[in-house]
Amino acid sequence: MITKDWKSRQRRLPIIDDIVDFWPNTPIEELAPGINRGWSRRSLRNREGVREDLCKVCDLSLMISPYDFVLIDGLRTEAEQKAHVDAGRSWTMNSRHLTGHAIDYAVWHQGRIRWETEYYSPVVDAFKKAAFKLGVSITCGADWRSRDMGHVELSWSEYPIE
Ligand SMILES: [Zn+2]
Repeated sequence: MITKDWKSRQRRLPIIDDIVDFWPNTPIEELAPGINRGWSRRSLRNREGVREDLCKVCDLSLMISPYDFVLIDGLRTEAEQKAHVDAGRSWTMNSRHLTGHAIDYAVWHQGRIRWETEYYSPVVDAFKKAAFKLGVSITCGADWRSRDMGHVELSWSEYPIE
């Protein structure tokens, strides 16, 4: 859960380019088990049109996450969002997906996509660490009352629509 205190600390944090500096006592191998991971073509396609700050958070998360993951959605058109609402997969036409402020990912483990919750908590943790390190304020769907495990968006408060 993101507390108010956590958020204000996050805002003050300068951007640090060296991952090792952020967790000084953790060897890089442990910190970034998937450091050689790259984005699949599918992920890159879904990353197009997504806000720069969120892309950076995704990139760093991919490096430090214990599980690999694929970006399964990013920027949506009005029609695509309407289809999600009609199908009951989304409940709002005020989605951050419409402006490139949100992504959805799915855990990729041992050659297939996993939907079990246990795979998501460590990845959510990686997203929060990455965002904190980069000084980017995010909201994770995993923290919502009606959970949306693979959803991550830039916070409304720090990233209002221009
Ligand atoms: Zn989403």
